[in-house]
Parts: sequence; structure tokens; C-alpha cells
Amino acid sequence: MATMEQLANLINGQQVSAHSGKWLDNVEPATGAVYSQIPHSDQTDINAAVTAANNAFAEWSAMPVAKRSAHLQALADLLEENLEDFAHAESIDTGKPVSLARTVDIPRAVANLRFFAAAVAHTQSDAYFTDNHAINYTLRKPVGVAGCISPWNLPLYLFTWKIAPALAIGCTVVGKPSEITPMTAHKLGALTIDAGFPQGVLNIVHGSGATAGAALVEHPDVPAISFTGGTVTGQAIARTAGPMLKKLALELGGKNPFIVFEDANMPEALDHAIRAAFTNQGQICLCGSRIFVQRSRYDEFVAGMIERAQDFKPGDPLDHETRFGSLVSAEHKQKVCSYIQLAKDEGGTIECGGKEPDADALPPRVRGGCFLEPTIITGLNAQCRTNQEEIFGPVTTIMPFDHEEEVLQRANGTPYGLAAMLWTNDLDRAHRIAGQLDAGTVWVNCWLLRDLRVPFGGMKQSGLGREGGTEALHFFTEPKNICIRVRHN
Ligand code: NDP
Repeated sequence: MATMEQLANLINGQQVSAHSGKWLDNVEPATGAVYSQIPHSDQTDINAAVTAANNAFAEWSAMPVAKRSAHLQALADLLEENLEDFAHAESIDTGKPVSLARTVDIPRAVANLRFFAAAVAHTQSDAYFTDNHAINYTLRKPVGVAGCISPWNLPLYLFTWKIAPALAIGCTVVGKPSEITPMTAHKLGALTIDAGFPQGVLNIVHGSGATAGAALVEHPDVPAISFTGGTVTGQAIARTAGPMLKKLALELGGKNPFIVFEDANMPEALDHAIRAAFTNQGQICLCGSRIFVQRSRYDEFVAGMIERAQDFKPGDPLDHETRFGSLVSAEHKQKVCSYIQLAKDEGGTIECGGKEPDADALPPRVRGGCFLEPTIITGLNAQCRTNQEEIFGPVTTIMPFDHEEEVLQRANGTPYGLAAMLWTNDLDRAHRIAGQLDAGTVWVNCWLLRDLRVPFGGMKQSGLGREGGTEALHFFTEPKNICIRVRHN
């Protein structure tokens, strides 16, 4: 019998097991089978990683920017060379179609590393000449050891989105990937050894959020925590990190509206709405999960969505033709199913999906997996729980609206404010509505276009602070004002 692969922590440049010798099972969600194990790390492992990162900080932060940047570019080169291997690993780990991993997740992870490697060479420092008697300038120093905690839905993309700016600006890092999807971070750790990263600069500790994640947040020598995940977890982290006065960036959940006005280009709006609902099985924080359509085009839109949903047939994620894979875990699938039941209880009509695919519709290899059909629900009001709570699965509702004010009020009427999508050909309306939507990002006539230079984050319960571009680099620094008196003889 083949031995089970055991993943390793990366601490001080060495691949090591958890100090306790304990392991957690790692499941392939498309089959339901345990296929590897990860270290069940605890406070002892976090302490060792923070010590290594602290020891590496002086040299790394003093290194010339061009040299730090070259390390990140070397890592990006290696990742690009191994794209197919990483895409395969991410597909097995997450259940997402391998075609999505190889065209989106892994290339975007490469882009994150390259972007921050380049951006750090172009940072500026503010300087002010104060009434002819002083010069003030801002010295930004890397804050020290950064704690980076990432979720399971876009595991490598979001992990690199955090570690790249931290490393580029001169922080050393202790990263804690999601225990559900540890494989690509583990592989990235191995690549840093090949890329010749100095020991202790990037440390990766696997394990559960409650044990390893919490120990990282609580560690007194980790002054900055960058977290992406659910709102409830973010609140728990804030309760610990807040009184310790740590720097905190929280990228949290969403319940994003997708608004279609009657003058929109309907085929385009439909093509984007279906992608926004079901890409990665609806497990993207930026997915559109509440679609509002102006009444005169509502029936046509619902019919168009149902027709297009047929293109999202669940299949083996490792098949390059598959567009729609498995949910990330049995537990998560159960949660999504409970929301479909709730939608029915709340009087919704299931227009399509709402159930597992028939077993014989799936290839034999994946019949034990966590599959659900793409689900479209109508007939619900905007205030019901189905339309208020984050489901984070292949479930979208569609609702009609009549006026701008009404749709604005309903679109903004949730505790979240991560992203919003707006479809119209009326330029005045586009500006008018976009400015009033409670969302950190508003996409007009598009979805998921990214410019890594812009600030990214959420309003209300969707987060705290902004990542992306200069803001991400600045987050990992402590700005210091230096004021020099100018003497006039
Ligand atoms: P979780 O909040 O469950 O977990 C996120 C990470 O935090 C994981 O690594 C987890 O570890 C860890 N964690 C859990 N509990 C603690 C704790 N007490 N202290 C420290 N770390 C902890 O999120 P999910 O992984 O389920 O991800 C889905 C959520 O992420 C959704 O709500 C989604 O909207 C949000 N998200 C937000 C994005 C944004 O940019 N705003 C982008 C992508 C996702 P473990 O896995 O071991 O539990």
C-alpha cells in the first residue's frame, strides 16, 4: 500500500513536522478520500516560527530593495515553471476545475509576487516644507514579523496576496494557510528553499485555525495580522488583536448585489452574471449572490440565467473540460444545502439545481464527492435570511425592481459591503449609483477585473482596512514623522 503524503511546516528554512507529532487529515473534496496529512501545529510550532522570523528580520529588512525584489521574482519564476503541477495540486485540494486553477489562481499568484516585487521599488515617501521653518518627511519602516492567515477558496492566490507585500517591504512572515487547502502553500514553501530565500524569512505553519491560527494572532512578537476569511472569524481575531494594539487588516465575507438596469446589454450582463454566480462553485468572496433586474427585463433575464446554468454541469475537477467542480468539503456542502432548504422554507422557488447531481451524471472517480448543482432561486424578498446571510456556494437569487432608489436601498440593505456589480449603458446613472453603493469595489459592466494598484477591501462587516497597491505595502510599515528645523541665519 502506498504511504500517505505528509506535508511539512516551513520553519527557519527547514521542512519539519509538528512538534507534537500530530497530524490532521487532508481530504480531496471531489472524491471524499483522505489523500494527505498536514502537521497539527500548536503554540510550540508558532513560537518556533516567530523566533525564526524575528531572527531573520534584521538582515532581510536591511537588504537592498533590488535584492529583496529579486528573491520574489525568483520565486515567481519557479512558480510559473511549475504552473501545471500547482494547478493540479490546487484542483485536488479544493475541488475547483483544474482549468480555473491554471488560468486564474496560479497565474494570479505569480502576478501577485511580481507586482509587489516591482511596486516596492517605486514607493515614495511624503515630504513637506512647513512654513519656511521645518522639513517633515515620513520614514516608513517594516513593522517586524507579519502574521498572514488565509482561507480555502483561492488558497495560493490569497496567500501570496498577503505574503508578497509583507516580504517586499522588508517584513518577515509567519503564514497560516487554511487547514482545508494546505497543499499549494506547502509546495510554495518548498520553492522558497529552491529560490534561495534566506532562512526564516518566510515561515509556513499548518494546522487548525483554533490552535495554530489563534496562537499566531496571540503572539506578542507579531505586531501585524493580515487576515482573509469569514466575518465571524475576523471578529474573533479583532477581539484578541485589538487590545494588543496590533495592526490589523481584515478581508471578510460578502453578499454582493448584481444590478441589471433595463438599458443594459442583456447578453453581456447574463454572461457575466452567470460567471459571477457560479465560478469556483460560487465560492469567491466577490461572487454576485443577489441579482436585481429591472422589472421590464426580469422574465427574459431569469430565462437566460436558467439556460446558461446548463453550461455549469458538475464534473471531475481534474478533467480539463470541466467548468464546475466540487464544493470544498462535506461540511461546507451541508451548510450550503441548509440554505437551499431555508430558501424553500422562506417561500422561494428553485428555478434550477437545488440538489446533488444524479450519481450517474458524474464520472465514477468522483461519485463520492461534494457536488451540488448550480442553483437559481426566485420569489424571495431582499430582507429574508437567504438574501441577508453569506452562503458562499453555487446559489444565487434573482429579484425584480422598479426604481433606482428602491434597488439602491435593497442592494445596500445587508450587513456586508464587499463588492457590487452594476449593468447599464447610461453613463450618468453608472456614476450616480456606483458612488452610492456600500461596497469597497463597484464593477460597472464587468466583473472580477483587477488592477493590483487599487486599494482593495470591504465596507461594513466585510472588513477593516484596505489591501492592494501602496496601501498593502504601507500596512506592513510603521510610519515615522521626522521633523527637521530649518535655521535661517
Ligand atoms: P475562515 O474564517 O473559517 O478561515 C480563514 C482562515 O482563518 C483559515 O486559515 C482558518 O484556519 C483561520 N482561522 C479560523 N479560526 C481562527 C482563529 N480563531 N484565529 C486565527 N485564525 C483562524 O474562512 P474560510 O476559510 O471558511 O473562508 C471563507 C470566508 O472567507 C468567506 O466568508 C469569504 O467571504 C471570505 N473571503 C473573503 C475575501 C475577501 O477578500 N474579503 C476573499 C476570500 C474569502 P482553518 O482553515 O484551519 O479553520
